[in-house]
Amino acid sequence: MFGLFSNKRKKFMDVAHTRATNWWKALNVQGIKENSRFCHLCRVEIPRMQGYLFKPRDVINNEKYMETEIGKLEARKIPPEDAQEIIWKRIETDFDDWLICDTCIERFI
Ligand SMILES: [Zn+2]
Repeated sequence: MFGLFSNKRKKFMDVAHTRATNWWKALNVQGIKENSRFCHLCRVEIPRMQGYLFKPRDVINNEKYMETEIGKLEARKIPPEDAQEIIWKRIETDFDDWLICDTCIERFI
């Protein structure tokens, strides 16, 4: 069971990392040559060609991240349906892709 779980985890990370490397390459093609960017969530510096990339819809479809964020609002006495709506709106109106660091990836897996 553990092997199966760690495989899923590795696959999830590989997919998100591949999205990040493709994104870095696309920036390069656009003539944007930065050596690093900051993590969307914690602002730690992420060197070029590293990190994990999530598009807004990847974030919305991520059960773990969404549950945590909804839980935070519920803790502030916001009803679950409203909480979900608030988080969706927040992510949908932020059109940027999220580059995520090695620590923050844990919030998605
Ligand atoms: Zn981070």
